[in-house]
Amino acid sequence: MASSNKFFVGGNWKCNGTKESITKLVSDLNDAKLEADVDVVVAPPFVYIDQVKNSLTDRIEIAAQNSWVGKGGAFTGEISVEQLKDIGCKWVVLGHSERRHVIGEDDQFIGKKAAYALSEGLGVIACIGEQLQEREAGKTFDVCFQQLKAYADAIPSWDNVVIAYEPVWAIGTGKVATPEQAQEVHAALRDWLKNNVSADVATKTRIIYGGSVNGSNCAELAKQEDIDGFLVGGASLKGPEFATIVNSVT
Ligand code: PGA
Repeated sequence: MASSNKFFVGGNWKCNGTKESITKLVSDLNDAKLEADVDVVVAPPFVYIDQVKNSLTDRIEIAAQNSWVGKGGAFTGEISVEQLKDIGCKWVVLGHSERRHVIGEDDQFIGKKAAYALSEGLGVIACIGEQLQEREAGKTFDVCFQQLKAYADAIPSWDNVVIAYEPVWAIGTGKVATPEQAQEVHAALRDWLKNNVSADVATKTRIIYGGSVNGSNCAELAKQEDIDGFLVGGASLKGPEFATIVNSVT
């Protein structure tokens, strides 16, 4: 990371954990020594957010893994932004590939969710990323730019947004992007922001990488000029390894 942006590391626990395993994970995180100059956020499953909020050090902020697109009400099974704020969430992860490709959320819906969450004061971890066949077809930039544009078209400001570039083929597969592959896309995303939003937003918006980040590969990735942090899935379920990733800030 060469920019003056503050390093940002998020742990996406996905649909994992029990009261017991989360008690242990929180205790490990509370014991961990974390570099001071890093924003650290964890996203527990909804049902454990309250437990985590009440037991985790304030040093680490809480994110939700999703939020409803507007004000709460008659939307069975959904969780509103207002409720997330009520239980102490500061962030929400939106546009994750599992929601795009397993649940079927599209660019416009995700853009609207981001706009609503931001309007209510939540920070947004805005995920984008290409699938394997898209990369192989040479469409990586097209896909990422299109997903980024949907956020840009919907949101009034990038102040409270962190972009997470997560190539779908790298998520949960153990097949991490090489530092060069990740850097190439991050630089292109920053360029897109410069040309389509503003030079200021391009400089200040953190672009973090996700997809099979672990304690062994984080240091090389963190050295890349345009990588401002990580969104970590599997390795965020192990407190000490997650701390290593947080501390890979250069
Ligand atoms: P992974 O997941 O680290 O397990 O690949 C990353 C993510 O989906 O955010």
